[in-house]
Amino acid sequence: MQENVKKHSHLYSIFTCKCPRCKQTNLFLNQNMYYLPDLFKMPERCSVCNLKYEMEIGFWWGAMYVAYAVSCALVIAFFLPLYLYFKFSVDMSLLIDICLMFLLFPVTFRLSRSLWIHMFAHQAVD
Ligand SMILES: [Zn+2]
Repeated sequence: MQENVKKHSHLYSIFTCKCPRCKQTNLFLNQNMYYLPDLFKMPERCSVCNLKYEMEIGFWWGAMYVAYAVSCALVIAFFLPLYLYFKFSVDMSLLIDICLMFLLFPVTFRLSRSLWIHMFAHQAVD
């Protein structure tokens, strides 16, 4: 690894989907998360530090738990202002909420994988 490369914080690395070890390369091949054909595509290893992203078979299944938690947090975060502040009905608030969750699926998916790999990167062996 180069010595003069600026290291980012863990939080920055999580939200920008960078490699959890070197924080330089992207976790996903295409940075445009709304280009759906490439939404799930990840390189096998980091090109800088050689960290294997899928650390074991089925590693990404665990990211679904993170996705569930992130989705629940977002649903509540959208529902409460719609219902309490904007005075939409419960049905309309939920309908808007569901539409927003569909639109935010790529964000939720990638953020969940990024959070998941950042939780386990310190245990990774090459
Ligand atoms: Zn790396």
